[in-house]
Order: sequence, then structure tokens, then C-alpha cells
Amino acid sequence: MEKITDYFGSMVFDDRVMKARLPEKVYKSLKETIDKGNPLDASVADSVASAMKDWAIEHGCTHYTHWFQPLTGLTAEKHDSFITPAPDGRVIMEFSGKELVKGEPDASSFPSGGLRATFEARGYTAWDPTSYAFIKDGTLYIPTAFCSYTGEALDKKVPLLRSMDAINKQALRILRLFGNDTVQVVKTSVGPEQEYFLVPAELYAQRKDLIMSGRTLFGAMPPKGQEMEDHYFGSIKQKVSEYMADLDKELWKLGILAKTKHNEVAPAQHELAPIYSTTNIATDHNQLTMEVMQKVAKKHGLVCLLHEKPFAGVNGSGKHNNWSISTDTGVNLLSPGETPHENAQFLLFLAAVIKAVDDYQDLLRLSVATAGNDHRLGANEAPPAVISIFLGDELTAVLDAIEKDEPYGGTKKEKMQLGVDVLPKFRKDTTDRNRTSPFAFTGNKFEFRMLGSSNSISCANIHLNAAVAEVLKQFADELEKAEDFNKSLHDLIRRTIKNHKRIIFNGNGYDDAWIAEAEARGLLNLKTTADAMPRICDKKNVDMLTSHGIFTEAEIYSRCDIMLDNYVKAVNIEALTMVDMARKEIIPAVMKFTADTASAVASKTSVVSVACKYEKRLITTLSDLTDEMDEAASALEGAVAELKSIENVIKASEFVRDSLLPKMDALRAAADKAETVTSEEYWPFPTYDKLLFGVK
Ligand code: ADP
Ligand code: MG
Repeated sequence: MEKITDYFGSMVFDDRVMKARLPEKVYKSLKETIDKGNPLDASVADSVASAMKDWAIEHGCTHYTHWFQPLTGLTAEKHDSFITPAPDGRVIMEFSGKELVKGEPDASSFPSGGLRATFEARGYTAWDPTSYAFIKDGTLYIPTAFCSYTGEALDKKVPLLRSMDAINKQALRILRLFGNDTVQVVKTSVGPEQEYFLVPAELYAQRKDLIMSGRTLFGAMPPKGQEMEDHYFGSIKQKVSEYMADLDKELWKLGILAKTKHNEVAPAQHELAPIYSTTNIATDHNQLTMEVMQKVAKKHGLVCLLHEKPFAGVNGSGKHNNWSISTDTGVNLLSPGETPHENAQFLLFLAAVIKAVDDYQDLLRLSVATAGNDHRLGANEAPPAVISIFLGDELTAVLDAIEKDEPYGGTKKEKMQLGVDVLPKFRKDTTDRNRTSPFAFTGNKFEFRMLGSSNSISCANIHLNAAVAEVLKQFADELEKAEDFNKSLHDLIRRTIKNHKRIIFNGNGYDDAWIAEAEARGLLNLKTTADAMPRICDKKNVDMLTSHGIFTEAEIYSRCDIMLDNYVKAVNIEALTMVDMARKEIIPAVMKFTADTASAVASKTSVVSVACKYEKRLITTLSDLTDEMDEAASALEGAVAELKSIENVIKASEFVRDSLLPKMDALRAAADKAETVTSEEYWPFPTYDKLLFGVK
């Protein structure tokens, strides 16, 4: 048996390899860049490139690629071989520092939202030395950022790195105020829990909807769904377990810290969670994880569905973004700590997150808005589209006591004094019980639970980091001017709690009563992408994001455009697929069954004189449903045609929300009804029971 410790990271040009293969001076200089963000010394690049190439070739590589994350949400790569002609007709294998540092993929086919005029198709990729290069399928992958020639970000990595810089800068100001001069860098960390479904590949291949849109667009619920609650943490089936083992191994080779795996709530649904890492790395690793999950599934005769809602009627898939802020000295700033001093600092960061989430509910909501995720958020499953924070009863009671200047907990006589009193210990289990909250404090981190399973985690973290950086900035501005630091700190925290406690909610976020209460509290309920996305262009958001250098104004408008365009296109493809399936598969199947039933009646009545009441009723039902399907399909076709004529993308997205989606629901309702009265052998594609319970 191979030992994990032997092959973990074997495909990664990580610190071990760098140390072993780079000249000491080069290694040190590169390390400074990686750890502290110092600019990269140009002379270093050639040396690193040459070492990378040798290492890659020893591992069987012939090509390298600049791997980047365009605004499609996927990753992109263009492979170049290392070969260079030698004068005598041979080839030699070369890779220069220039090639490592900068690439020039043709950018014209990636969405840019008008940032890059079509005549100026060039974009360039720039090496991100903070994320290790790795080998996959005989190619050396170099993580890169993707920009236009005029410097605008065309990807999800550039703004993420900018947001990490912003929070670093502001958090350092706060730490200095607390007398901390040793911390050099503050970074955010993320552990993304990834949910997914597995279905048999041969059944997947028979469903156009899964192939075209990643989710089923038709399908009546089978007799059994998730109501028995027998799947969550249930014993893992042999085939799934083999898949998971293989997946772990592939991820470990890539240096990805795959840690936890289990069955999820819905049948055929599972989860994988890695150990958390720096946000930039966690993002690259999550993109890679999603890719490897799909690839490994194929080897096992399975298809891994990453769509947020592959099946109506059972839970969809999300991605929990466990997020914390920590220092290079190893202190988690969201951990209460041991001393009154640490507690006070913790409460300030906690207050900053509370205010950030309240002030920028809209940004957080829109950071996870996609056509797929709309089926989870605000639909009949947790979490809702309303953003609120769960803190747990104990921490909420502490904040209450601070706000009201009252003794905490009733047992103590004195009031809570920041910087003097020690906070009570919060046990993890008391802060972690609420599973319905979109944004939950879980002891030493926040768990943002609204992300969709197929989302890149970049967007959520860009906006979360930016919002928190902004509030830390406001806090630092105020406290740096304070004459009495402790008093000002106390006042600031009190005021923040008072002004923003409306965002704190410890109850069941799944409950309709909460949605009504949330609206009464003035919280936003942005139900769909069409409602949420345009908010990024609100002045308050543009001002904030540009002031921290996260986005330029042009980048914000272009991103809004691209995301809405994605939404419109995704739903449009679904609508077209539905019409196609209804007309070419479902209606013909139902007609055939109707005709065969009618023939049965004719042949029966030619022999004996019977009423054939059931058959005749069935024929009527089927015939009515056929009409209903045809009418619904025609209405949907009409809507698709109308959508084409709408040029403004905001208008188009509203039309999708108000017209296309309801018409899709109507077509589906008729077809699903037809499914329940049609003989199984006539149904043209595998039904829910087979898909959900088909993996043995
Ligand atoms: P649960 O299902 O209870 O939420 P999991 O163990 O499935 O817990 O996932 C928790 C995730 O949070 C893991 O990815 C873990 O590495 C991550 N995590 C733990 N501590 C931190 C932290 N300080 N910062 C960010 N993520 C963290
Ligand atoms: Mg979790």
C-alpha cells in the first residue's frame, strides 16, 4: 500500500520542491513574494521557470498552461509545449521566465462585459506565485490572473487578491491600535464544504436536460424522497465509497487537503470538505476539486452533478464557505481568546463583521446569485434569500449586555467592561446548532451558507472581504482619533450592536414567520438573480468597492452585465431544452401510449362488448395532458422568441424571472402529471427513482 504521506502533493511544485531545486537566493526571493506579497524580482523568474520545467518533464509533462478563472465561473487553459527547434533539426525543451510570468491567450471569446473592445482582443495572464503550480494530465499548470491590456480584471482572481489586500491593510490598522506591532500580514482563510450528486453515467446520457443544463427539467417525485432522513450521514454504498477513495487520492496528489466525506440529506447527494487554507489557495483548490470530482466520476461510470438543484422535490446542493481572519503569527481574529485584551479585540472584529453583513446584505446576496442557486435560496429549503447572522444565545446575550450596559448573565453584579472582563467560554456545540442560518458564527469562524454548489467561491469572498475591510476602515478612522482608546472602543462596539442588531437572528431561518419579521426589520429579501444583481451598481456599493481598489467602476458595470447575461442565457437554454424534450420525446411518447391504449380498446370491443371505462378515462386524461403540454410548450416558445428581442440585459433578466420561468413551470407541471399516468415502458428517459436510487 502506498502511503498518503508519500504521495501527498506529489504533483505540486510546492515549498519542498522549490527548496530542493532552486538556488538559495532565488528561493528566498520567491518566498518573500509568496509570504509578504513583495514584488517579484525579474531575474528570479528565469531560474524558477527552468526548475519548474525540469521538474515537470521528469514527471512526464510535455506542455505547460497558464490556468485562469474567466468570468464564466469555470477555469480556462491553453496548452503550449516546451519544444523549441534547435538548428540541427532536433528540438530542445525550453521554458523561460517570460513565459512563466506572462501569457497572451486570445481573450476575445471570454466574457468581458464590454471592457475589451473586440478589435483589442488581447488579454494577458500573469503568474500568481502565491498559488503553487501543479501537474495534471501531463501538463504543468501555472495559476494565473487574467487582465485586459489596459489592466482591467477579466477574471475572478484579480479582485479576490485585491480584496485580500484591502482587508489586510485595514485589519493591520486595527491591530496596531491594540498595540500589536509584530503582525506583518493578515489573511482570510476559507474551508469550502462542497455538496454534489452522483448518478449512473448510462442514465445521465439519456437525459437531454442533464446534459444541456446540468439539472432535470422534468420529473415527477418518486414514492420516496428524503423524508425518511435515512441518507444523511448514512452508510456509504460500495460504488460511492470507491469513488470517494479514488477522488481523495487524486486530490491529495494535487496537494488538496480533502478531509471529510459523507452522505448528504437527499438520496444520491454527498459532501466533501477540505481542511481550510488561505482564501486564494482555497479558491484555486475548490475550482480544481470540482473538476477532479467530475473526471473521477467518469472513471467509475458515474456523473457528478454540481448543479444547485439537479432534482426538484429534494434538497439542492450548496457550498458552505467557512471564513476566518488570521495573522501571520497564528492568531485567529475571530476567536474569543483568553484575556480581556484579546476578548475586546475579538468583539471589535465581531462587531465589524456584523456591521459589514448588515450594510452590505445586497452585495453578499448578489455574490451568490445565479440561475441555478435561485432554486435554493428563497425556495422551500434552507437557507433563505434573506441574509441574517446567527450568533448563538450565549454570544447574543453578551452583546445584549454590552448594548444595554447591563450585567451579563445575571450571575455577575458588575457590567460588562471591555478590556477588563473575560468573556465566558463558548462551546462550539452551542454556536453551531443552527443549520438554517445563511451566515452563522461557529465558534471561531463564520459559515456563509448561501453559496451554490457550482459557484466559484471567489465572488462571495471578494464581497465579504471588501465589506469587512470597509467597516474595519471606518472603525480604524474613528479609533485612531480617540483620546481614550478603551472608552471609544466600548462606545463604538455598543453603538454598532445597537445599530445593526436587526441582522442577528438565532431562530429558524427556514420559517415563513421569519421572512415576514425580516421584512419588518427592514432586511432585504432579494429573491432572484434579476432582483439582486443590479444592486452592485448602487452608488453606495460602487463607492465602497472602488475606494478599496477591489473593482474599477467599469469593472463593476461589466460584471453586472456578464452575470445577468449568464442568468438569461442559462434559463434560455433550459427553456429551449424543455421545448425540445416536450415536442420530440414526451409528447410523442404519451401519444404512442394513448394510441396503444385506444387500439387495446378497439381490439377488446371487437371481441366482447365491454365498457372499457378505465381505458377511455385514461385516453381522455392523456389527450387533455397532451393538449396542455402543447399549449404550454407553444407559450414557452413564444416567450423565448420575445426574449430575443429584448436588448437591455436588466429588462431581459426581469422577463426571464416574470415570464420565462413561470412558463417553464407550467410545461413541467403538465409533463410531470403525464408521467404519473403513462406506462413506465413508454416513458422516453430515466425517471427520478432510477436517477436518485440508481447507484448501488
Ligand atoms: P460542519 O459540517 O460542522 O460545518 P465540517 O468539518 O464539515 O463542519 O466543515 C468545516 C469546515 O470549516 C472545514 O473545511 C474546516 O477546515 C473549516 N474550518 C475550520 N476552522 C476554520 C477556520 N478557522 N477558518 C476557516 N475555515 C475553518
Ligand atoms: Mg458546515
